[in-house]
Amino acid sequence: ATPTALMVGTGRGAQLGILIKGPEVLESTRRVDTVVLDKTGTVTTGRMTLQGVYVAEDADEKEVLRLAGALEHASEHPIARAIAAGAQMGVPPLERSREWGSAGDLPVPEHFENAPGLGVRGRVEGHEITVGRFPGALPQEPARAKAQAEAEGRTAVVVTRDGVALGVLTVADAVKETSATAVRELRALGLTPVLLTGDNRAVAEAVARAVGIDAGDVIAEVLPEDKVDVIRRLQAEGRTVAMVGDGVNDAAALATADLGLAMGTGTDAAIEASDLTLVRGDLRVAADAIRLSRRTLATIK
Ligand code: ADP
Ligand code: MG
Repeated sequence: ATPTALMVGTGRGAQLGILIKGPEVLESTRRVDTVVLDKTGTVTTGRMTLQGVYVAEDADEKEVLRLAGALEHASEHPIARAIAAGAQMGVPPLERSREWGSAGDLPVPEHFENAPGLGVRGRVEGHEITVGRFPGALPQEPARAKAQAEAEGRTAVVVTRDGVALGVLTVADAVKETSATAVRELRALGLTPVLLTGDNRAVAEAVARAVGIDAGDVIAEVLPEDKVDVIRRLQAEGRTVAMVGDGVNDAAALATADLGLAMGTGTDAAIEASDLTLVRGDLRVAADAIRLSRRTLATIK
């Protein structure tokens, strides 16, 4: 290979907003036939807002939100930020969610623990609280609200106190404007797009539908430590896999993929684990990157 052509390739990459770890990276793009896309923060903006609070008839929305907000205040997760901010500031009531405002000052948890891919748990005012997708039975009204939110592509998390489900909080995250175009461009390059997420299947399928990914290519409810196994399984099927991600959760999968692409708007862990960084966090640039490196390789043949 002529080093000059590779240098030109990486220089052009910088102009497009692609940081390339080393010229040898371009070589891995040649055989890529599958592109795995993380959902939250990659296909969607990752900036979530609290939308609704749904509790059983006899429960109090503000109280449920106060307990959840207290725990989530200690977490950095986008869902956690949305819930903590919503609890502190209050949000206008939405359809079906009863009117509620700020939950007031949030108590400081006596104990707090992150359960990656599941949510948070801890002790607040002497009670064991969980927020997330921990298993457990839900009262009828919150269960209905959860199913409806998920069918519409919103994420619903359950709040429990001492093992009893109190209600559901829904958060919404918007699909990036550029994601559908990006998926179309990736397909035009002959790649099969796959959506990979820890989120609920219904939410994942709604997002997939919005951007043009087949329901059969949605891999949902995957724990963070299992994302890397998904990549290995696809590779074992004989596929050459590119992965695009942004989270700490994606780092191992990004490192294992034949080509790892990090969103520049994402975490340092994802960027360090990747071969390429898409500086502006625009998924269309993933297609540019693959097109550019194929062209660069063609030049040096
Ligand atoms: P993704 O793979 O889409 O980036 P994660 O693996 O971070 O998502 O989270 C998967 C699911 O776990 C979320 O959709 C949510 O149901 C639950 N979850 C994770 N973190 C939290 C949290 N801090 N609070 C509530 N639920 C959470
Ligand atoms: Mg993510």
